[in-house]
Amino acid sequence: MKDDILFNLKQVHDRIENACKISGRNASDVQLLLATKTVPAEIIRIAIEAGEHLLGENKMQELRDKDSDLRHLNIERHFIGHLQTNKIKDVLKYVTCIQSLDRISLAQELDKQLQKEGRNLDVFIQVNTSFEASKFGLPPKEVISFIKEIKKYETLKIKGLMTIGLLDVEKEKMLPSLRLLREIRDLIYQEEIEGISDLKLSMGMSQDLELAIAEGSNLVRVGTSIFGNRFLGKEIWNENIAE
Ligand SMILES: *Cc1c(COP(=O)(O)O)cnc(C)c1O
Repeated sequence: MKDDILFNLKQVHDRIENACKISGRNASDVQLLLATKTVPAEIIRIAIEAGEHLLGENKMQELRDKDSDLRHLNIERHFIGHLQTNKIKDVLKYVTCIQSLDRISLAQELDKQLQKEGRNLDVFIQVNTSFEASKFGLPPKEVISFIKEIKKYETLKIKGLMTIGLLDVEKEKMLPSLRLLREIRDLIYQEEIEGISDLKLSMGMSQDLELAIAEGSNLVRVGTSIFGNRFLGKEIWNENIAE
C-alpha cells in the first residue's frame, strides 16, 4: 500500500513536471493539492511523510474525523466541496481556504462568522465552466459582478478561480471548460477592479491535469491517480454534485 502511494505520487509529480516543460512553464508555478475524500488518515499520512502538505476535503465530517490524526502534521487544508451555510462554523475550524465559494449568501455568512472570530480567509470562486446542470459553481457570466459584490466582505481574500472541468475521454471535449476559466480571469483583469490581481487558477484533476496546466492552472487537485479508485465511492463523489 505504502509503495503504491509513493509510486503514484512520483508519477503525478512527473506528469506535472512534464506538462510544465511542454508548455514552457515553471514547475514551481503549479501546486499539487491532494483530494483526500474517502481516504483514511493513515493513508493520507503516507503522502504527507513523503513531503506533501496541501490537502483538500469535500465534507465537514471528513475534516473533523481525520483531524486528530493529521492536525499536528505540517499541513494546510482547503475545503473543495459544496459548502452548506450551516456547516460554516465547523469547516472554519479546520481550513485555511475555501475553494468553493459560489454564492452571495455563502460569502455573507462566511464574513459574519469570520468577523466574529477576528480572522480572514482565502477563497477561490468556483465557476461552472462546463455548463453542466449537475455541477455547482457560478455561471461564467456572473463572475465579474459577483466579485464586485463580495469585495465588500473584507474578511474574504480572493485568491483565484476554481473549476471542475468537463471530464471526457476526448481531449477536445475537456479543453474548453479549462480554457474558459483562464479567459474569465483575463476578463476580470480587464475590469481593473481595485485589489483584485494575481488570481490563481485551481483546475485539473487526475484525468485532465496536463490540459489544465497547458491552460495555465496554478493548482491541480488530484485524488484517484494517487490514492486509487477504491476510495472513491460513487455516493461520495455525488455529494459534490448538485441534484
Ligand atoms: C475528487 C475531487 C478532485 C480530484 O478528482 P480525481 O479525479 O480523483 O483526481 C478534485 N476536485 C474536487 C472538487 C473533487 O471533489
